[in-house]
Parts: sequence; C-alpha cells; structure tokens
Amino acid sequence: MTSNLRWDIAQVAQAAAGKWPVVIRQLTGIAASNLTGKYGPCPKCGGKDRWRTFADFEQTGGANCFLCGRMADGFALLQNLRNCSFPESLQLVAELLNIEPLTNDLTMSNQDPAKLIS
Ligand SMILES: [Zn+2]
Repeated sequence: MTSNLRWDIAQVAQAAAGKWPVVIRQLTGIAASNLTGKYGPCPKCGGKDRWRTFADFEQTGGANCFLCGRMADGFALLQNLRNCSFPESLQLVAELLNIEPLTNDLTMSNQDPAKLIS
C-alpha cells in the first residue's frame, strides 16, 4: 500500500479538529467507551486502567497509555493502534474527511490567497 499522494498536515489537522472521536472510531473500530476521558483498558495493549483520552480529545485526538506511551494527537494515536507510519495516518484521516491531496510538493508552502491584483 504505497502512495505518492501528499496532504497538507495543517489542513488535515484543522479538518479533523472537533471530529476526532468520529475519525478515530471509524479508523480503528474502538468502542466509544474508550474515548470517555476516564481510565480504562488500552485498546492496543489491554490492562484495566492504563489508558485515557485527553480532556481535549475531541480537538486533538490525543490519548495516553502507561505502556504504549503518550499519543500527542490523533495521528499519533492512529499510528499506535494501526501500526502505521505518520504519512499513512495522515492519508487515512484525509481520505476519511474527503480532503484533496496536494497536486505537487511545491504547494506545501501555503500561498497566501490575498488578492494582490484586484
Ligand atoms: Zn497501551
């Protein structure tokens, strides 16, 4: 599953903010009870009370597991639960949210769409 498609990280993160509970559940299949912000079993490594999503999970997608480590945002969480790379996690989220890939690497530098000519 290799792909040359690329997305703007900030754009994907912005689109996912506020939707992380839906995004994570769609892409990992974990239960809503894993996303309550209360301590519980880790969906990756089990246990009873080692996992907890951040208070701002809806905005950041981050969680912490005492064994797996801290997942600073939803991309890190996806990498952990799906054993994928960062670019793969970015692609998963972008495709779920129907975000268009960049047409080439040059567009990585966000051009200011200010109307300089009008
Ligand atoms: Zn864990």
